[in-house]
Amino acid sequence: MEYEIVIGLEVHVQLNTLSKMFCGCSTKFGAEPNTQTCPVCLGLPGVLPVMNEEAIRLTVKTGLAFGCKVSNFCKFDRKNYYYPDLPKNYQISQYDKPLNVGGSVPIRIKGEKKAIKLTRIHLEEDAGKLVHNICGGSGVDLNRTGLPLMEIVSEPDIQSPDEAYAYLVSLKQGLKYLGVSDCNMEEGSLRCDANISIRPKGVLQLGTKTEIKNLNSFANVKKSLEYEAKRQEKALGGGERIIQETRLWDAVNNKTVSMRSKEEAHDYRYFPEPDLVPVVLDDEYFRKVAGEIPEMPDIRYERFIAEYKLSEYDAGVMTSDRDLADFFEETSKQGVDPKKVANWIMGDFLKEINTAKVGICDVKVKSPDLASLIKLIDEGTISGKIAKDVFAEMFVSGKKPETVIREKGLIQISDEKSIEGVIESVLKSNSKVVDDYKSGKKSAAGFMVGLIMKASKGKANPKLVNELLKKKLSGL
Ligand SMILES: [Zn+2]
Repeated sequence: MEYEIVIGLEVHVQLNTLSKMFCGCSTKFGAEPNTQTCPVCLGLPGVLPVMNEEAIRLTVKTGLAFGCKVSNFCKFDRKNYYYPDLPKNYQISQYDKPLNVGGSVPIRIKGEKKAIKLTRIHLEEDAGKLVHNICGGSGVDLNRTGLPLMEIVSEPDIQSPDEAYAYLVSLKQGLKYLGVSDCNMEEGSLRCDANISIRPKGVLQLGTKTEIKNLNSFANVKKSLEYEAKRQEKALGGGERIIQETRLWDAVNNKTVSMRSKEEAHDYRYFPEPDLVPVVLDDEYFRKVAGEIPEMPDIRYERFIAEYKLSEYDAGVMTSDRDLADFFEETSKQGVDPKKVANWIMGDFLKEINTAKVGICDVKVKSPDLASLIKLIDEGTISGKIAKDVFAEMFVSGKKPETVIREKGLIQISDEKSIEGVIESVLKSNSKVVDDYKSGKKSAAGFMVGLIMKASKGKANPKLVNELLKKKLSGL
């Protein structure tokens, strides 16, 4: 029997705020355990939460950017459960009145565009972290408790592990463009749980789903979904039933393993958080936040193809990161061929960045300097080969290409005698071009400059070449 896969993803994203969701504690990653806590996030008796306005703004911004219906009225609820890393015994979350409902995330897969529908994006606080010592004993770090988290829930609208992967890449890109989160998976700023079921092709009713937790990379999300789809297919094919359960991804053995079954699942007993008033937002507020949304990667991708005539592949790389896209645009706007800019970025630029492990913003090569470098190649001042060495030096020192060329003596031929020699020999062996020039074709002079530069392996001073050639031609 042929089956089809149905996947829904829940993504937890830590918002880029300086303080926690309901108190003033720092959100900085990597501090000593339990140094960023206070009576509010520890849930001590008699304390009251105070809402983080910035977290609300970032969640509204995300909702508007992904086309959600952002509510004028939302409230917070208590989600009750006992867990050792949740000192209050409840988590403040949103239940029946979330901030954002609906919306979609655009993906491209095998050239086809598709929008993955969202159920909701709501705001909640994070729990802490248990630390298990290898030598025995466990501790709890509550620095993370109370951090503002956005939960982005997709509809069961994803039809393959590849689509799930594309969805996560697109979502992360969008969130980073918006600047709402750093989306750093290693630091837990972005976490993903996946729901997957299969059903015989053509059947409308959903099959029994399993949930996969503990996914620490997009590649593992894809791998675990591929494994789980096969496992379920094998089970159903063998006449077994799928049990609704939570499974973990075992990245060492590349398989999912059962964690707990539905019988143990929690009944959260939600009720409205009595210590927080509902959030009422007006359309003026939405307009203001909407004004802060940048051009999103998907739209920028299409514009790059239309405006700069980039290939789909090039446009994909150029828009993969907002800073990179800005750098590409700034460079291209300085009168150089955008395709050449894209090639430089995809080649030497990203290679040096990956080797040096620096952010695009911290790169010392500024866009006017890359534009100058490309112009210097176009003018024949330096060869493409020399330009690579010049770029490597620019990347390290931040010097302008002209400075590097001068300091390294890359323009070696500057004395008139040797350039005259090159001109003589080029003119001698290209008598046809000389004849063209004599018969009035003035553009032949430009062609000759190119030939002379080539003959000197790009090392002749182009200004002198032009001057001396002009003198020579006027005497013909
Ligand atoms: Zn606190």
